[in-house]
Amino acid sequence: MPELELRQITKRFPGVLANDRIDLSIDKGEIRALVGENGAGKSTLMKILYGLYQPDEGELLLRGQRVNFHSPQDAIKAGLGMVHQHFMLFPSLSVFENVIYGEEPTRMGFVDVAGARQRVRALSEQYGVAIDPDAKVGTLPVGTRQRVEILKTLYRNADILILDEPTAVLTPQEEHELFIVLRRLADNGKTIIFITHKLNEVMTISDRATVLRDGRVVTTLETAQTSPVEISRAMVGRDVMLRVSKPPAQVGGIVLQVSRLDVRPAASGIGGVHEVSFDVHAGEIVGIAGVADNGQNELVEALVGLRPIHNGKVQLQNRDIARHTVAERRAAGMAYIPEDRGRVGLALEATLGENLALGYQREPQFQRNGWLNFAALKQHAQSLIAQYAIKTPNETALAGNLSGGNRQKGVVARELTHQAPLLIAEQPTWGVDVGSIEFIHQQLLDYRKAGHAVLLISADLNEIMTLSDRILVMYEGRIAGEVRGDEATEERLGLLMAGVGV
Ligand code: ADP
Ligand code: MG
Repeated sequence: MPELELRQITKRFPGVLANDRIDLSIDKGEIRALVGENGAGKSTLMKILYGLYQPDEGELLLRGQRVNFHSPQDAIKAGLGMVHQHFMLFPSLSVFENVIYGEEPTRMGFVDVAGARQRVRALSEQYGVAIDPDAKVGTLPVGTRQRVEILKTLYRNADILILDEPTAVLTPQEEHELFIVLRRLADNGKTIIFITHKLNEVMTISDRATVLRDGRVVTTLETAQTSPVEISRAMVGRDVMLRVSKPPAQVGGIVLQVSRLDVRPAASGIGGVHEVSFDVHAGEIVGIAGVADNGQNELVEALVGLRPIHNGKVQLQNRDIARHTVAERRAAGMAYIPEDRGRVGLALEATLGENLALGYQREPQFQRNGWLNFAALKQHAQSLIAQYAIKTPNETALAGNLSGGNRQKGVVARELTHQAPLLIAEQPTWGVDVGSIEFIHQQLLDYRKAGHAVLLISADLNEIMTLSDRILVMYEGRIAGEVRGDEATEERLGLLMAGVGV
C-alpha cells in the first residue's frame, strides 16, 4: 500500500487550472522528486497536501485512509511536515527554542527546557542533522537554518516531509549535506517529496521523479533508468509549437555592450549577477534563458536602472550608462517591456491614453508652450490602439480594466513606437492569450527587422527559441553557455539551465 496517494486532484485559480486531475502515489521511505517548469503547479499541489489550499476536486489518502486537511495543523497531526523555502524561524531564539516553539513540553505546568533540549539533541543525532541546539538561529548560515526547519518537522513526528525547492538557497556544499540528511531520513522510513527544477538534483537524490507540466502529470520516471535529457524533454516539451517565421538576421554594429557586470542579489544573499559579459547588435534578438531566480531579474533591473551596478560596464551605443537614471537611459535609447506590468509597466488607475504616453510625455511631440498637448496625446493613443488592435472602448478607459493581453499590448505599443535602438523585453507574453502572443512575437521580429537590437528575457523556452538569433543561458548568476538560435534544442538549453554543462 502506498504511504501517500493523491487521486484526481484539481485546483483552479481565476483563469488558471493550476492542478488538473493529478494522480500521485508515493511509497514509504521513498524520495520522490517533483519537477516541472515555473507555473507547472508543483507548489499548489504541495500546498493542497499540506492543508494550505483545499482542492476543488480529488482526494488524499494516507496509508489507504482518506484524509481531509482543512489547515496545516490537520496535516501536521496526520504526520506531514513542510520545509519552507522562506524559513519561518525566530532569529533571536536558539535552535531548540525554535524547534519546540508552539509545542513546548511541560512538566507540572512549566516548560521542560532540559527535556526539550534533550529531545532535540536525540533527534539530531538519530537523523544525522548536525546542529548545536543552543546556537542563536540568527547567527546561523542558511543551510543550518534549513536543518532547524527539518528538525521542527521531525520534532512534530512528521513521517512525510515536503521540501519546496530546498536547494534554491543553498551553496553546493550545503546542498551535498542536505542530500546526506535526506537519504538518512529515507533510510529511517521517512517519505520525502522534493520539489526542484534542477536535473542534476533529480539524478542525485531521487528514487523516482514525477514531471508536471501545465498542471498535469506528464510522466513518472525511475531515476536509475532515466537521463537528464529524458527528464528535460518531459519538462519543457510541448505538443504544439507556435512559431512565427523568422527571416535571417541582418546584423549591424554593437548597440548594447555589457562587460564583467556584477550585481548584488535582490534579497537574503541569494542570486545576483557575477561577471556577466555579452553584447547585442543592431538587427538581432539575443535571448536570455534560465530557470527563474538565476540572476535574470537582477540583470534586467541593473540594465534598466532599477538596481545599482556593483561592478562592470554597461554601454549603450558606446556611451557608458552604468550611472544613468531610468529616465536618462530612456533618453539614451533604451525601451523596456517589464515583467511586472501591474507595478512597473502600467499605471492601472490611469487611463489607457495616459499609459500609452507614460515615460515619454516630456517629448516635444506631446508638448505645446510648456504644457501637455492633450490633442496630440489623444491622437497618439488612438493610433496605437488601432495599430495594435487593443480591445478597449476608447483611450479614456482605465488601464486596470483591460484584460491581461490588452494591457500587455499597450505596454508593447508604447515601448516600440519610439523606435529606440535597444529594446529590453522581459517575459513579453506572460499571461497573454495565444493570439496576442503571436502578435507580440511578430512585433518583436519587425522591430529587429527595422535594425534595432532586442534583448529578450523569457522563462518560456519556446519563445526564446522562436525569436532569438543567439541564446545565452543564465545559471546561478552567470552565463552558463551560449547557443545559436538555429542550433538550439530544448534538450541542450534544458541541460544548461539545469547547470549541467554540455
Ligand atoms: P510551480 O510551483 O510549479 O512553479 P505554482 O503551483 O506556484 O507552480 O503555480 C501554478 C499556477 O497557478 C501558475 O499559473 C500560478 O500563477 C497559479 N497560481 C498559484 N497560486 C495562485 C494563487 N494563490 N492565486 C492565483 N493563481 C495562482
Ligand atoms: Mg513553486
